[in-house]
This record gives sequence, C-alpha cells and structure tokens, in this order.
Amino acid sequence: MAPKQEEGSFTEEDRTPVEEMTTLGQCRYCENDAKRMAPHKDGTGWVAICDEHEKEARDDDFVPEKDADPSVS
Ligand SMILES: [Zn+2]
Repeated sequence: MAPKQEEGSFTEEDRTPVEEMTTLGQCRYCENDAKRMAPHKDGTGWVAICDEHEKEARDDDFVPEKDADPSVS
C-alpha cells in the first residue's frame, strides 16, 4: 500500500515547518484551540488540530498524534 501522491488540495504553505514547534494555536480546520499535532506522512511538516478534526487531518494525509498521557508529569 504505497501512499498515493495527491497534491493540489494541500499546499506546502499550509504546513508549519517542523523546526517551528512552539504552541499549537488554532485548529487547522476550525477556530477551536488545537489539542494535538498531526505530522504529515511525508515528514515535511505538521498541522495543529482539535479533537473534532482528526478525521479531516487523516483525509489530508496527516497522522494525528495521540493525546499526551495525563498521568505523566
Ligand atoms: Zn477543529
């Protein structure tokens, strides 16, 4: 199952460079505060998403990370 190349709907400019890992800020798909990062499959960048838009991120070839373990301090 090689990943398909589906460029066009998502440009490089929509991604945050990996080097700039600061605050998550706003969800890529709505105006909610982002809850997690979603790195792109090709490793070129990531977007910040809220809990409601994990599916949308996956549809755009991003791989949402799991929530941080709240038991770890
Ligand atoms: Zn959202």
